[in-house]
Amino acid sequence: MNRFTDRVAVVTGAAQGIGAATARLLAAQGASVVVADLTAERAAGTVDSITGAGGTAVAVGCDVTDADSVTEMVTRTTETYGSLDILVNNAGITRDNLLYKMGRADWDAVISTNLTSIFLCCQAAAVPMVAAKYGKIVSLSSRSALGNRGQVNYAAAKAGVQGITATLAIELGRYNINVNAVAPGYIATAMTDATAARVGFDPAEYQKLASEQTPLGRVGRPEEVASVIAFLASEDASYVSGQTLYINGGAR
Ligand code: NDP
Repeated sequence: MNRFTDRVAVVTGAAQGIGAATARLLAAQGASVVVADLTAERAAGTVDSITGAGGTAVAVGCDVTDADSVTEMVTRTTETYGSLDILVNNAGITRDNLLYKMGRADWDAVISTNLTSIFLCCQAAAVPMVAAKYGKIVSLSSRSALGNRGQVNYAAAKAGVQGITATLAIELGRYNINVNAVAPGYIATAMTDATAARVGFDPAEYQKLASEQTPLGRVGRPEEVASVIAFLASEDASYVSGQTLYINGGAR
């Protein structure tokens, strides 16, 4: 399938996990991909797997919480590949704690990395997208947007992502830019492994518990999120905008 031939995609936080799976899938379907993560060195592994499979990708260091870094990443993208057609706002962190124990630094870090970053990346990417009258933006929300014990910071940020998505779909629709979000449930990545460790479980044990609460009876894989992101970034979803699609095996 080559549905992204001649398209240029940026995926943030793409050194590992859902971002890496998304970068690999977009590249496999023809996109030139900017693999962005905190450092270019961290992103290099994903680039190697893409180019090794015959795809096109470049590693770019970008801290999505820093406006100058984001602007530089967008400039680098358009200078390298000539456009920026697809933006996947994937970079994210957790700093979980119950309300009474959560420090201001953990609140700020999560809001900055999961929410403010999306404002910054959308604002910068919208410049070439509006000029081209073409764009697809897909951002990572989470099932935690509906509320999750120990995640007041993360839930607030991920609910905010849905608000940004609904609003930018309205503002950018006239420029032929689709803006959507995905809200995964439990996906087996370094992030959920770290959550397991924090609450005293090994990852397999914790995944088993999550599986028992999921109608499909298992946790998700990064590739199962990547395929939905790719759908929303493609012309197959050309009349879908302002939506948040839950990817959670039927869990509530
Ligand atoms: P990972 O922790 O595996 O990957 C996230 C990546 O983002 C890491 O490479 C990380 O780098 C990078 N990153 C962190 N901060 C920044 C920053 N400031 N600038 C650039 N890159 C940064 O996470 P997942 O793959 O699990 O999650 C990806 C997205 O999906 C996140 O937004 C997450 O909130 C969301 N999500 C994940 C779910 C899950 O179950 N896994 C469920 C719902 C949503 P480093 O490792 O160096 O910090």
